[in-house]
Amino acid sequence: MSKKPQDTHSHRNNTPHVAIVGGGAAGFFTALTVAELNPSAKVTIYEKGQKWLAKVKISGGGRCNVTHSCFDPKELSMRYPRGARELRAAFYRWQPQDTLDWFAERGVKIKREEDGRMFPVTDDSQTVIDCFLKTSQEAGVQRLKGVGLKSLEVLDGGGFEFERTDDQVDRADAVCIATGSLKASSLVRSLEGLSHTIEPLAPSLFAFNVADKRTHGLAGLSVQDAQVQVVGSGKPQTGPILLTHRGFSGPAILRLSAWEARALQEQNYHFEIAINWLKDMTENQVREQFNRLRKRSGKNNVHSKVFDALPRRLWERLVTVSGIGEDTRWAQLPKDQETTLINELIDGRYQVQGKTTNKDEFVTCGGVCRKEIDWRRMESKIVPGLHFAGECIDIDGITGGFNFQAAWTTGRIAGEAMAEASCD
Ligand SMILES: Cc1cc2nc3c(=O)[nH]c(=O)nc-3n(C[C@H](O)[C@H](O)[C@H](O)COP(=O)(O)OP(=O)(O)OC[C@H]3O[C@@H](n4cnc5c(N)ncnc54)[C@H](O)[C@@H]3O)c2cc1C
Repeated sequence: MSKKPQDTHSHRNNTPHVAIVGGGAAGFFTALTVAELNPSAKVTIYEKGQKWLAKVKISGGGRCNVTHSCFDPKELSMRYPRGARELRAAFYRWQPQDTLDWFAERGVKIKREEDGRMFPVTDDSQTVIDCFLKTSQEAGVQRLKGVGLKSLEVLDGGGFEFERTDDQVDRADAVCIATGSLKASSLVRSLEGLSHTIEPLAPSLFAFNVADKRTHGLAGLSVQDAQVQVVGSGKPQTGPILLTHRGFSGPAILRLSAWEARALQEQNYHFEIAINWLKDMTENQVREQFNRLRKRSGKNNVHSKVFDALPRRLWERLVTVSGIGEDTRWAQLPKDQETTLINELIDGRYQVQGKTTNKDEFVTCGGVCRKEIDWRRMESKIVPGLHFAGECIDIDGITGGFNFQAAWTTGRIAGEAMAEASCD
């Protein structure tokens, strides 16, 4: 590094300098925690982009799904395909109720929706952004927009020196990496140079591309309580499945994409899924129901809707693809066609050929290796004074507000540790 460091370093003016790299959810929460707990610290957020909190803005379809109404740390942690064990302990320190209280204290009211997701009552993500900008301004947090970090070096006598994208050089006593998804960059190379392991990245929370005559033309239909599984691996996911122009989406599909993110990447997103459109109904249960229909409603047409849970057009399609003629009545339904229909209902096999990004929420799994972090302080076990918060760590949750909750929790713990250290 050739340029002289900026005059922000504690060695010059004895004010501890805490550098936060990234002006997203985790970066702001970390910065605000340090400023709140140690008002004497100089806190700077470096954001390489031109906008603060850009992902918060577009999150939750522009409404920002801030957290989830799950207040038991153990249960909450089970919503994280990667990082559940570490986050469980962290949630005992900062969980959704703490997030709600924090926002309430700053005038942001949050409501719960039927499925447990929580949004600002304004239904506008700008409310969250305004809260962070106002709170950080009042707390005297320095915000540098359009200024990223290119590299990071550890100084011999303690502290850090880093090169900015505007070619200035700064110093800080403590640094928190809150850069979100850790794509290849000079900063990532610096972290690797400091002996940190970066777990390979893989997208999570995506929809499945399926071109199949059974669902062709049915886009927009949804089944509220279905079950889906990758054939030959993993556990099934239940919940709504949405039929789209490209294939399948909806909570059950997104959840499956999260839990199987790495395996599906390895298969280059070409794999087979099995769908039970009737959730967990078994072959025997469906057959019993069909037997009752034969006896009691033998004259009724099989194409007429049978299950409340299934949209009429999907039922008709599954009956048709099972080879059942338009005029077939329950009393005449041949056994082989009945068996085909039962298979379509409870074990429909579909070939997935590719993925589509979910517009409402997506994340990346992979990032800083969890084992290299002291989770009590969100601090590197390798480089004292170096902290991590948010999506840059190898953690990710399913949809529903869990990813932001992880950002608030890790940001809070990192902030507490940095505030304490800078008081010394
Ligand atoms: C479309 C969409 C919708 C979403 N909706 C939701 C939702 O409703 N609820 C939910 O829980 N989760 C949601 N998520 C996930 C959530 O947005 C992320 O988990 C969360 O933003 C992670 O926060 P973060 O601060 O770690 O990273 P980010 O929000 O990505 O912020 C990191 C910041 O660091 C900056 N940066 C990167 N490198 C550098 C550098 N070298 N120097 C300086 N700055 C740098 C980036 O420009 C960025 O602004 C959504 C994601 C997407 C993409």
